[in-house]
Amino acid sequence: MNAARPLALFGGTFDPIHNAHLRVAWEAAEFLDAEVRLVPANVPPHRDQPVAGATQRAGLVRAALAGQDRLTLDMRELRREGPSYTVDTLLELRAELGEERSLVLLVGADAFAGLPQWHRWKELFELAHIGVLTRPGHNGTLPTELRTKIASRRCTETRFVREAPAGRVIAIPVTPLDISATQVRALLADGREPRYLMPDALFADPALLAPYRGEG
Ligand code: ATP
Repeated sequence: MNAARPLALFGGTFDPIHNAHLRVAWEAAEFLDAEVRLVPANVPPHRDQPVAGATQRAGLVRAALAGQDRLTLDMRELRREGPSYTVDTLLELRAELGEERSLVLLVGADAFAGLPQWHRWKELFELAHIGVLTRPGHNGTLPTELRTKIASRRCTETRFVREAPAGRVIAIPVTPLDISATQVRALLADGREPRYLMPDALFADPALLAPYRGEG
């Protein structure tokens, strides 16, 4: 039995962070009884480059997390040069935490379906569990090689995740919130204020969202 609470990592571009990121991370923390760290990617390897720089995106995450301490910001990918490969992040954390602690990589259902495109993706299962967050618009269809890879790893009970350091895949049902950073960026670029799609704190300092208004 693994006594410490699981440590869950929620990586992303967070360009910018929005309420669905926060809410699903919160629900995952409660579902798994885990500590959750948000890990902004420095150079996301699987997609277009972000509108805002890494430091600005991290500043938004920091502002969004103010007032609670269950979700925290982990800056490790911002300190690394080059593409932010999740496998490197997990290897680093494993070395810090030791072999026993339960580690969970949280990914939205859309991101999970693309896992076979990730660098050294098969190693991820040796390093962490994967918690798949439901996301509106994604019906859970998976490519064959991923389906085959996870067939014997799927579980529904959190005790399997708590009692082993890595290797399981668990679906985490979260409130369906159809919010995306793409939508938020489009609203900001159009001069609108996407209030209530993002925390109020992000509107308190005009500099925080300036890059998305073309002022950064
Ligand atoms: P973009 O619209 O720019 O692609 P995004 O809103 O998908 O951005 P990311 O930073 O790419 O945000 O996502 C980080 C992680 O959060 C990914 O694993 C993604 O699947 C998950 N995620 C983002 N939005 C939601 C949502 N509404 N519900 C569940 N998971 C989400």
